[in-house]
Amino acid sequence: MQYSHPAERYGKVYVLRLGHRPARDKRITTHVGLVARAFGANGFVLADVCDEKVMESLRGVLERWGGSMELLCGVSGRRYVLDWKAMGGEVIHLTMYGLHVDDVIDDIRRSPRPKLVVVGAEKVPPFYYEAADYNVAIGNQPHSEVAALAVFLDRLYEGRELRMEFPGARLRIIPSPRGKKVVSLNAGEEQL
Ligand code: SAM
Repeated sequence: MQYSHPAERYGKVYVLRLGHRPARDKRITTHVGLVARAFGANGFVLADVCDEKVMESLRGVLERWGGSMELLCGVSGRRYVLDWKAMGGEVIHLTMYGLHVDDVIDDIRRSPRPKLVVVGAEKVPPFYYEAADYNVAIGNQPHSEVAALAVFLDRLYEGRELRMEFPGARLRIIPSPRGKKVVSLNAGEEQL
């Protein structure tokens, strides 16, 4: 199958992760990054802090499973949002207090502007609510940044991202009704 990144159809999408606390958020922030990659984002930005453990895990997945998502950390979240807007991009902040995704997703999808999707950890400072072009709720109940990001990207890409191929992959799964079939692209088929 030909590689076709959702960005070719829907424009560039980056994910900005706010509020990462290295002592307690490594796993969930890594999962935000993994969802960003697997669901078709072009970049993952860890705001205000650099956590080498998280970045290393994400780099490892990119190396083994392919894809070319840009990884950044330690940049000021506020500065990144302001620069993104100044360069003509739009900012979509995922929050349970926002407008229901069903009511805004068509407008967001129609816009050709690069999209920065912002997710928080604990309390998100008011700046992000004000700077956002859209505050979007994946339903108006509290849940998780991982779930919110996955559902948002899936709605944005209309489910197409789940068929995406990842260039440069060393491993590829052969879907199988039972068991685990993985092709090592150098060494042939492996049963795990
Ligand atoms: N009360 C917090 C708040 O300020 O929204 C919830 C924090 S929640 C543990 C962490 C992040 O998950 C939020 O910053 C938001 O990005 C995302 N999130 C949680 N529930 C959401 C929902 N229903 N819709 C959109 N995003 C959500």
